[in-house]
Amino acid sequence: MDFTLSDEQRAFRDALAAFARDRLAGDYAGADRRGAFRDGLVREMADMGLIGLRIPTEHGGQGADALSTGIAAEEVSRADINAAYLILLPSLVAEVLVGAADQVQRERWLPAIASGEALPCFCLTEPEHGSDAAHLSLRAQRDGAGWRLSGEKTSISLGMGAHTALVFARTGEQGARGISAFYVQLDDRYVARSPFEDLGERAIGRASLAFDGHPVGADALVGGEGEGFVRCMQGFDYSRALIALMCLACAQQSLEEALDYTRQRRAFGQPISRQQAVVFPLVELAAQVRGARLLCYEALWRKDRGMPHALEANMSKWWGPRLAVDACHQALLTFGHAAYSEELPQAQRLRDVIGLEIGDGTAQIAKLVAARHMLGRELAP
Ligand SMILES: Cc1cc2nc3c(=O)[nH]c(=O)nc-3n(C[C@H](O)[C@H](O)[C@H](O)COP(=O)(O)OP(=O)(O)OC[C@H]3O[C@@H](n4cnc5c(N)ncnc54)[C@H](O)[C@@H]3O)c2cc1C
Repeated sequence: MDFTLSDEQRAFRDALAAFARDRLAGDYAGADRRGAFRDGLVREMADMGLIGLRIPTEHGGQGADALSTGIAAEEVSRADINAAYLILLPSLVAEVLVGAADQVQRERWLPAIASGEALPCFCLTEPEHGSDAAHLSLRAQRDGAGWRLSGEKTSISLGMGAHTALVFARTGEQGARGISAFYVQLDDRYVARSPFEDLGERAIGRASLAFDGHPVGADALVGGEGEGFVRCMQGFDYSRALIALMCLACAQQSLEEALDYTRQRRAFGQPISRQQAVVFPLVELAAQVRGARLLCYEALWRKDRGMPHALEANMSKWWGPRLAVDACHQALLTFGHAAYSEELPQAQRLRDVIGLEIGDGTAQIAKLVAARHMLGRELAP
């Protein structure tokens, strides 16, 4: 494996670092307080090509590889992990659409996603079916040439603000084979949205979406009937590595800020950086963050080469968010009382990364999938 970034990837990373520092970091706390991004952010990120990173160039996107998209999500997350969702969600939805939709559908849907006019959400979880998504019950029933969607999705990131949704619905028998995917223009006459009051990630937010016979055309079906669950899991094999990178970027930022603080803060007549008890935990976490980041890069690098990457992505999804919580927590403690408030970003980062220990699959589910790859389905838990 060669993880040396190309000149192009390095230039891209530098440009994004500048954007994150100059245009995102200053509003990280403000967006959290408002529960909304500042006006114009979506447009700005779309104009930079960030929302359509994974969308092919012929459909208005950047046609970026998975690793470059991961680097982008990382750089943006350093300043604002919520803004990185504006890379994550369109990338995940586009992943499924590019893989499963036909040419006519791709031409109709993808340019609007890339331009930010059709911000998508990803609707899998239901009140009674979270980890056990294969048994979801939201129903798609045939209605003339099209379908009607009835049932509730919950815990949907960007659920209040999204214009479109990739909805996983039951069209057939119980279990994974009876699930199909639909790409839907959300019509609020048929969807009742209710927001959550969350611990973190408030700018992106989560919502429940109750579908009440929402009509969709025959051409809303993505791929064949019964293909939805497999497409969803293939998408997760990608998004789980991105999510881990987003969390690790928060960890990296907090660790750097904490180390910097140890140089400046004096106690007992010397900088606290002179205390092993202060610095060694930060060093240990920094080493682990580097290791975990490489695992994420490996998952994306393998994906870019068409190699199996589910094991690496699921390992990353357990390790990255967990480690980020530990690192953000340790960084917060390093600042003492000053970080136990919203004046510094440490507390918000900790609140934000905890959400991604759950979102897109919990640690237990990520380990379960990894175990299946290591042991085989019959012997795994
Ligand atoms: C910040 C955030 C963003 C989210 N965004 C989205 C989104 O955009 N779209 C979407 O569809 N969903 C989203 N979710 C929902 C998320 O994917 C689910 O919450 C998650 O899959 C777990 O489902 P659950 O909460 O119903 O927990 P449950 O499935 O009820 O699990 C409860 C607990 O039991 C454990 N558990 C369950 N089954 C097993 C098992 N077989 N072995 C071991 N442990 C098990 C779980 O790990 C968990 O700790 C989001 C959640 C959060 C917190």
